Amino acid sequence: MPLTGDGAAGSAAGDGAADGGPVAADRAAVRRWHADLAWLPAGGVRPGVLIEAAGERFVSVRPDVPPGDVPAGTVRLPGLTLPGLANAHSHAFHRALRGAAQAGQGTFWTWRERMYQVAARLEPDSYLELARAVYAEMAMAGIACVGEFHYLHHATGGVPYADQNEMGRALIEAAAQAGVRITLIDTCYLSGGLGNDGSPEPLAGPQLRFGDGDSEGWAQRVRALGADQHGMLTAHARLGVAIHSVRAVPPGQMHPVIACSHAYGAPLHAHLSEQIAENQACLAAHGVTPTGLLDRVGALGPRTTVVHATHLTGGDIEALGGSRTVLCMCPTTEADLADGVGPARALVSAGSPLSLGSDSHAVIDLLEEARRVELGERLITGQRGNFSAAALARAATVAGHACLGWPEAGEIAPGALADLVTVALDTPRLAGVSEATALESVIFAGTAADVRGVVVGGRDVVRDGQHLLVDVPAALDDAIRPLLTP
Ligand SMILES: [Zn+2]
Repeated sequence: MPLTGDGAAGSAAGDGAADGGPVAADRAAVRRWHADLAWLPAGGVRPGVLIEAAGERFVSVRPDVPPGDVPAGTVRLPGLTLPGLANAHSHAFHRALRGAAQAGQGTFWTWRERMYQVAARLEPDSYLELARAVYAEMAMAGIACVGEFHYLHHATGGVPYADQNEMGRALIEAAAQAGVRITLIDTCYLSGGLGNDGSPEPLAGPQLRFGDGDSEGWAQRVRALGADQHGMLTAHARLGVAIHSVRAVPPGQMHPVIACSHAYGAPLHAHLSEQIAENQACLAAHGVTPTGLLDRVGALGPRTTVVHATHLTGGDIEALGGSRTVLCMCPTTEADLADGVGPARALVSAGSPLSLGSDSHAVIDLLEEARRVELGERLITGQRGNFSAAALARAATVAGHACLGWPEAGEIAPGALADLVTVALDTPRLAGVSEATALESVIFAGTAADVRGVVVGGRDVVRDGQHLLVDVPAALDDAIRPLLTP
């Protein structure tokens, strides 16, 4: 039977943010796709994969189905189809700095000053507009779920909004309008750094917007978000929590954050050892490394994700790997901010699952993040083949979703959330690809610009390379321009 074109069958996306979010598909809706090639969890890349979903979940996945055996109304997916990608670490507002922060020299710390200038200008309405555009850019890059590490909580001077979670709710709404899932990683941020005597420095200037007084104040605000006992906030949003870093949360304040993670089964994230100066200050103040400090307070474990983990000791690697703490590498940001190259291979060998994030959004391209993990390792070790394309693809998909609290996503398999990313293989970058090495080609040479179709929860979000809900370039331009105007 003949195949129809992309998107000719099934429910159309574009309803906007209805109750339950735009990714909550009609439970009765059955959709079928026939992927020329698809990467499957057990079988690698397979041809002629017939994929069926009922509502937001896959119900059957069958490879090696010839086109003549495909039911009418099935959508053909040319190229290589992957599960939805997960961006495990995002600060949406940093997107405004792209390019603008590249002129001249500077360090992580001078970049941070620039970032604070943008933070100082955002209000719930403008942050909704910016995040909606940024999450829509992510969707166009194949990202079905974003982990938003959110600490811009309050109005200027630290004054709470009428709804003290207004900023967090704006981010949840932004994800709905962009057609993606979100884990709102509500971040505890209490101090501006560690002083020379080891005592926490008070928040100052734009940082006042990040603080909740103490971690009990933080926990009270997080409870007011109204997550259910499983940490769900809406059908498309779940709760995560974070200790911003050992710079921003004194060890005596960490327990309520960890307890909140346990209470909701919520992922616990933390920035870790991104800069050598952070390690030095932590050692001087507490006599242990940042990893040692998190270990001491009971913050490590399989539900915990550490972001960057760039400058580690052998003992740090043992503690993180041995506790199965997840590693989130953000290689384009780590390169952009001159952080260094973290010991990804050593951590994964020690037991840490690998996930990926675009963090500051110097670019938004998880294929680039994935290959940079391997390429960074090659530059450091002088050896190739440290991470296979399949291992990197797992980091970008199933491992990323799991560390954001969505273990049911990131695989094209019955029962999983019906997320699909189709990468065109007829682009200048990927033309000539052979079936046998299609995954290697996409991971090591593909880009976000090669993503042609994205389905989230059974519904089209991107079709023919176009976002169906948001005019992404215009939305980014409209949101960012006012933030950068002097
Ligand atoms: Zn970050």
